[in-house]
Amino acid sequence: MTALTPQPRAALADIPAYVPGKPPTPRPGVATYKLSSNENPYPPLAGVLDAVAEAARSLNRYPDMGNAALRAGLAADLGVGPDQLAPGTGSVAVLYHLLAAYCDPGDEVVHAWRSFEAYPIGIAVAGATSVPVPVTATGAHDLAAMAAAVTERTKVVLLCTPNNPTGPALSHAEVAAFVAQVPGHVIVVLDEAYREFVRIADPVRSLDLVAAHPNVVAMRTFAKAYGLAGLRVGYLAGAEPIAAAVRACSLPFGVSSIAQAATLASLAAKAELLDRVELIVAERSRVVDELAGQGWSLPDAQGNFVWFDLGTRTAAFAAAAEKAGIVVRPFADEGVRVTIGEPAANDVLLRLAAGWVD
Ligand SMILES: *Cc1c(COP(=O)(O)O)cnc(C)c1O
Repeated sequence: MTALTPQPRAALADIPAYVPGKPPTPRPGVATYKLSSNENPYPPLAGVLDAVAEAARSLNRYPDMGNAALRAGLAADLGVGPDQLAPGTGSVAVLYHLLAAYCDPGDEVVHAWRSFEAYPIGIAVAGATSVPVPVTATGAHDLAAMAAAVTERTKVVLLCTPNNPTGPALSHAEVAAFVAQVPGHVIVVLDEAYREFVRIADPVRSLDLVAAHPNVVAMRTFAKAYGLAGLRVGYLAGAEPIAAAVRACSLPFGVSSIAQAATLASLAAKAELLDRVELIVAERSRVVDELAGQGWSLPDAQGNFVWFDLGTRTAAFAAAAEKAGIVVRPFADEGVRVTIGEPAANDVLLRLAAGWVD
């Protein structure tokens, strides 16, 4: 029988909801901090705000749909051609466009799990089939199992490095060996949302892999290290045919003129912004060392966050954190992700965590 109301595609019924990090509820007498969305605790630089104000003077006009200045600026910064770039409203949007461009119904997308919660959503929206591969006991990608999960239906493999929410990063050697195993028709996406925070000995040199392999792409964002989460800018760097296909699927005029201007101003202030990343990495070391001293053994934290594998204690820990003044991101019955924030916020976490060591 025909339904009497409009029915969305069946695939949408199974889509898990994206759970945004909650903001803190203001409480009299308690300083509250948002450590639930892996945001940068530093406010925008003055020069970036000036660029935003200047761009705002032309809000009656559409933005440059081709993102020409943005792509030229990025291309110069990265040493790739502008036609190898596809900007979008955050790298999540770029990923959705890539899936829309390459997946037919029934095509498979292999990704680690637990990993970034947007993956199964974007895959289902594209009509493709999610093939989750469990992370190891230390929260790392199981690359051997992921390679084994590739079939002739696989269109895309997503590697999240460092992995959100568990934290470990893949090395260049590991990723290069993985790419060598994957058939050429499969796109390997390196989701590098937190690349600026990685401090392992052999970090992925994604643009080298992009240059060597027409099926490898890097996805990056200005939301985390560059502190522009509210403006929504990210991009793909890859071979020209892939970048062109992603641009073809992008929302027309998606990246606003304000976002384009702020991103260019941020590229110009890169050194200053990366100094801030250095401070966050130093805070991460302080937090990780102190937690280890308390008796925690956490997965290797290579992003701007730490992961507590709390299992059934997850909800209770999140509630206690909120009471102490920090909002964290619980994943029901799995664990809690806590962003490295301002030192005072991290101190609240350390005081709280001391009472929860198993
Ligand atoms: C934050 C994040 C992104 C990018 O988010 P945008 O704000 O859409 O740029 C991409 N991948 C992962 C794993 C992230 O955590």
